[in-house]
Amino acid sequence: MSDKIKYINSEQFEEEVIKSNKPVIIDFFSDDCPPCDVLAPIYEKMAEKYGDHITFVKIMRQENRELALSLGVTGSPTVLFYKDGKELGSRLSGFMTKPQVRKAIEEVLGDVLPPETMEKVTCDLLILGAGPAGLSAGIYAGRAKLNTVIVEEGVCGGQAATTSHVANYPGTDGAVNGKELTRNMKEQALSFGVRIDDLKEIFDVNLKGPIKYIRTEDTEYYANTVILATGARPRELDAAGADTAKGRGVHYCATCDGAMYEGAEIIVAGGGSAALEEAVFLTRFADHVTIVHRRDEFRCAMTELEEARSNQKISILTNKIITEVIGGEHSLKEAVIRDVNTGQYEIIKADGVFVYVGNDPQTRIFKGQIELNASGYVIAGEDTRTSCAGVFAAGDVRTKEIRQIATATSDGQLPRSWQKDILQ
Ligand SMILES: Cc1cc2nc3c(=O)[nH]c(=O)nc-3n(C[C@H](O)[C@H](O)[C@H](O)COP(=O)(O)OP(=O)(O)OC[C@H]3O[C@@H](n4cnc5c(N)ncnc54)[C@H](O)[C@@H]3O)c2cc1C
Repeated sequence: MSDKIKYINSEQFEEEVIKSNKPVIIDFFSDDCPPCDVLAPIYEKMAEKYGDHITFVKIMRQENRELALSLGVTGSPTVLFYKDGKELGSRLSGFMTKPQVRKAIEEVLGDVLPPETMEKVTCDLLILGAGPAGLSAGIYAGRAKLNTVIVEEGVCGGQAATTSHVANYPGTDGAVNGKELTRNMKEQALSFGVRIDDLKEIFDVNLKGPIKYIRTEDTEYYANTVILATGARPRELDAAGADTAKGRGVHYCATCDGAMYEGAEIIVAGGGSAALEEAVFLTRFADHVTIVHRRDEFRCAMTELEEARSNQKISILTNKIITEVIGGEHSLKEAVIRDVNTGQYEIIKADGVFVYVGNDPQTRIFKGQIELNASGYVIAGEDTRTSCAGVFAAGDVRTKEIRQIATATSDGQLPRSWQKDILQ
């Protein structure tokens, strides 16, 4: 744990934050909160890097509820910045990436840090992303005695590590925690001699030519072959007011923030498995949950739809989208809904909106070097070959019908036919 992070409570807030003569970054975190677990190592790394210029503070939200509410913090994690006793910049909330946190800190500080010294690494195979696809590719490559490095922007595990309830991965006894499942995958890859460089941000990519080049903040990688396994990230709600209400009424993690909505009226946006599962989970707290889905067909198992339909606390609106969320200081009050067929608007009461409206592939950094489809997925078939020689795509990042842990791990298997290419 970094000694550059101070854990404080409400009583210390005035002294440590308001009266601080340095800028302060605060992480309001909770227990049992997957996005807090994702942020924690990023926060540590940032504290090591920027801790001489900005004070890093952590406050447990559950134990300092009144302070959190007085600041309008209703979701975990929420990151705030203070300077000269006043809040500044914009807040970050929910699942955060290292680039988002770094950029927010640098906005507050300006460019105060000199560039890092660079390490040079050469390898047979470079895997970008340490979710189920990247880790399973690492396991196969390590076993095939290829000199393999995995570069991960955050921490290992990918999307799978953000859910505590994986019920359909073969070989597990009932539901398994995604964090544990992917921790095992990581240990397995390490045991076969794979190097995993996590919390690395990729700034430059050159996939053309026989030697591929990747540069992070402190390392230059050269490899014969690259596997793109950067997966996807949850899409944000595209509605007026949703951005400013993030963490104050608009949420992306029911496990973390659902308990704040005891007795409340909640909307769940989306029509896939995640939306239906989380809507049912939220009925533990809320008086009523309305699922708002833009189509009339659902992308989920029939059992999930039936469970939601038979729940007395859930109602389902189809062919509707949320166009605006209207808030108070700490939570929402209403949401404006538009019927996609008639164009008519209605306003419904909503204290909070939980968003599960699909994912965006993480391919921006490869654009122009590799063929992507209209939605931004890397065009690759079962053999995972892409339009660029020596570059393969595995898991959710590639064009495919079903995006699940089982399909991601199966992509990670290295066909013998191209293991030879890697060693050239
Ligand atoms: C809430 C939730 C519940 C789910 N439940 C289930 C379930 O029950 N069963 C099931 O089978 N599937 C489930 N899924 C889907 C499953 O998690 C995914 O299909 C699977 O994780 C895809 O694996 P992946 O390795 O292809 O991509 P991801 O899991 O998305 O991993 C990609 C990794 O790449 C990293 N990365 C991204 N960009 C960069 C970059 N520029 N540089 C370096 N690294 C980068 C990311 O940080 C991430 O760690 C669920 C997904 C979610 C979000």
